[in-house]
Amino acid sequence: MLLIIFACGDQNKKSINELELKMNEIAAQYVKLVLEIGIYKPDYVDAYYGPAEWKPNKADQKEIDSTLINSLNKKTDALLNKLDALKDYQATELETLRYRFLYKQILSIKGMIFIISGGTFPFDKEAKILYDTEVPHYNKEHFQKIIDELNKIVPGNGQLSKRLNDFKDQFIIPPDKLDTVFTVAINECRKRTLQYIQLPDEENFEVEFVKNKPWGAYNWYKGNSFSLIQVNTDLPMQIDRVIDLAAHEGYPGHHVFNALLEKNFVKEKGWIEFSVYPLFSPVSLIAEGTANYGIQVVLPGNEQIEFEQEVLFPLAGINSNNADLYYRILSLLKGLNYAGNEAARNYLDNNWTKEETIAYQTNYQLLSEKRAKKKLDFIMKYRSYVINYNLGEDLVKSYIELNGGTDDYPKRRWELFEQLMSVPQTPSGLK
Ligand SMILES: [Zn+2]
Repeated sequence: MLLIIFACGDQNKKSINELELKMNEIAAQYVKLVLEIGIYKPDYVDAYYGPAEWKPNKADQKEIDSTLINSLNKKTDALLNKLDALKDYQATELETLRYRFLYKQILSIKGMIFIISGGTFPFDKEAKILYDTEVPHYNKEHFQKIIDELNKIVPGNGQLSKRLNDFKDQFIIPPDKLDTVFTVAINECRKRTLQYIQLPDEENFEVEFVKNKPWGAYNWYKGNSFSLIQVNTDLPMQIDRVIDLAAHEGYPGHHVFNALLEKNFVKEKGWIEFSVYPLFSPVSLIAEGTANYGIQVVLPGNEQIEFEQEVLFPLAGINSNNADLYYRILSLLKGLNYAGNEAARNYLDNNWTKEETIAYQTNYQLLSEKRAKKKLDFIMKYRSYVINYNLGEDLVKSYIELNGGTDDYPKRRWELFEQLMSVPQTPSGLK
């Protein structure tokens, strides 16, 4: 009896190891494929800290023709077939998640190859293929209700977006104070995050202020728990954006997300697929969604407002007399975020011209013309990626809150938040 049990046990162990080895091999091929795709799609490889010898050189670049597209498709299909043959790998919940994560990531590569070949998907289809999600649609009436509310409370006369942006101007941080204010904000977010999430001792980041970028800020993850956070100063920054950026790019957002993936998977388990970050793929919805939701995790309820008023306003030398109205306006403005997705869809699907899109952004997102143009630059470069921010945040929020991580249970919320960043979750898996 005993002997048989031992024999079975050994056999199981052996086959599990074999499955793990096969899975690791698929993961390695996936990384190499992502790196190869990156030769043909700028910005696709957002981070890579795996084996240096896997990085392609200039000489590996081929002409984009049917031979190349066929070869990329063949490699991708071979990986999907190998995964299909490895269904038994999923013995634990974590392994099921890993399996599903890789499957969805590789499926999105199929879409990316089509894009590289010169193809274009309609907006909603692109979001589905690249980010594994369905984008909701909202009509103008939906936003109009919020705009009517704002119309009543924003001071002044004339066009609402102009009045709103004039009002917001009093909360702009003087450029010479930006560095100090941002450093204090990021240190606060870091301190609060480290109370709940254990990060490697060596974790660190550097902040750089840059210009002439289509984005507001960027986290470049370099591996070994180190991030370079760039903040774009093309447009003036209002005080509330500082915490948003510190939490989103740093703690508990992208920096923490990447450091946890590296620690939990790449270093502890040797799951090499996490050493590469393909920007236009499902993992981005989880990354942007957690980064945005992380703002209210790290400074929940009124704590963000309190911290800003007590610490950041005086540091920036901004008068806080109108702060209450400012925050009321900001919370209403959040409801207009989806108007940005409508603008992107209609512009990219050729329903609206540039001018029509900018007019819509000024009327329904209440952006100044300058900011509307900047957002349009982002849409033109990153296309349906825009949905990862607001839709990602809402999916992460409902997932965490439905599981008990509400405002009233901050400890539970932190636990769920860390858990979500410590498993290979997929957007469709959040439902
Ligand atoms: Zn981000």
